[in-house]
Amino acid sequence: MTTAPGAAQRLSRMIQIPTVSAEISERGSAPFEQFITLLEELYPGVHRHLERERITELGLLFRWRGADASLDPAVLMAHFDVVPVDPSDAWTYPPFDGQIADGFVYGRGALDDKGPLLVVLEAVESLLSEGFTPARDVYLSFGGNEETFGDAARTIAQTFIDRGITPWLVLDEGGAVVDAPLPLVRGLAAMVGVGEKGAMTVRLSARGDGGHASAPPARTAVARVARAVSRLSPGTFPARTPAGVTRMLEHFAARRGPAQRLYRLLAARPWLTARVFSRLGGEPAAMVRTTVAPTMFEGGSAANVLPSQASATVNLRVAIGESVAGTAERLRRRIADRKVKVDVLEGEDPSPESATDNAQFALIATAVHASHPAASAVPYVMMAATDSRHFHRFTPAVYRFAPLAMSSELRATIHGVDERVAIDELERGTRFHRALITGLGVAEPRP
Ligand SMILES: [Zn+2]
Repeated sequence: MTTAPGAAQRLSRMIQIPTVSAEISERGSAPFEQFITLLEELYPGVHRHLERERITELGLLFRWRGADASLDPAVLMAHFDVVPVDPSDAWTYPPFDGQIADGFVYGRGALDDKGPLLVVLEAVESLLSEGFTPARDVYLSFGGNEETFGDAARTIAQTFIDRGITPWLVLDEGGAVVDAPLPLVRGLAAMVGVGEKGAMTVRLSARGDGGHASAPPARTAVARVARAVSRLSPGTFPARTPAGVTRMLEHFAARRGPAQRLYRLLAARPWLTARVFSRLGGEPAAMVRTTVAPTMFEGGSAANVLPSQASATVNLRVAIGESVAGTAERLRRRIADRKVKVDVLEGEDPSPESATDNAQFALIATAVHASHPAASAVPYVMMAATDSRHFHRFTPAVYRFAPLAMSSELRATIHGVDERVAIDELERGTRFHRALITGLGVAEPRP
């Protein structure tokens, strides 16, 4: 298959359209319209054979009718908006030039998420040209405001609910094919997100009597809120190992390497994993418990005036298995001060965990074998949110994985400088989706 050079050109053209959702009020929606028109030009087969709906201003939903209408569909998701570029950053090539050099396509969105979007379309277009019909319906769900937590994907998910359609499989961005995924683990792994944490923002506030600072009360509003914040520590929330983390450890326990015994030990003892990971801090700790980060503090108006009120904003990432409501309750109990109000400003529950012993995960693993034979599919849980969160409430099989290999150096370019994707990976990613789509028929046992 020689899709890569053409695919690289097509990705370059996608990158040249600055679909920066955070700047839509300054740039206007013209780039987004231009992008949608570009897709029509680049993928004529897709636009001829699939039904396209525009759902909200920035949502695209394509339907490819499958051979058997009684089977639930597969939904392949991606987003075509990108994050802004910091003008003070020095890029090797300008971020919206789509420069092709040294085997890479450079530019904002190359990995997040125009590259992953492109490989879906490349696969569908090539299968269409061969006259292929999928066994079940395949939907392509593309949103233009993922990075700004917009409504496109949410409304598309609601459209499925309204039509009484429960997808058999949903696949969105998230994990990737990575090298050395955990300390002391060797080799490639295709990290497939089987769950994602929730997020919430909470305001802690207190009122004081005000007055002159020369005769202060025992505790001012600022001191009260500060004390509340200081009562929140990493240990505020219990550590618990999600099933997805245990499955991940089981996987690595089966691999030869310096840490094989350690991973074997942990895989068999989720309680120990919870303890070890929470002690490690950072990412491992974030995998096993709710994190809490005070981000803003406000109070007082002058150096010599007692503040009549003070507040702190706290950002939390809610662990899998917990809830926004339960987390707020735990905050109140831990702060233990009725004069501190705890208001949840926004909250999104964590996802349930998708299974790894089902036909859907097996199909993803098969497709990984087709695209990246040296890697195996390994489940994990994500700390960040994806658009697929709008589906997991009514769809049991939601997975988060982009079929592109990314070194840690490349992963750091996402939302950063010199974002780029290897041209070879565009070909592999296309192969992944071809294998996934052509494998959709062999899965479900008929009732
Ligand atoms: Zn993204």
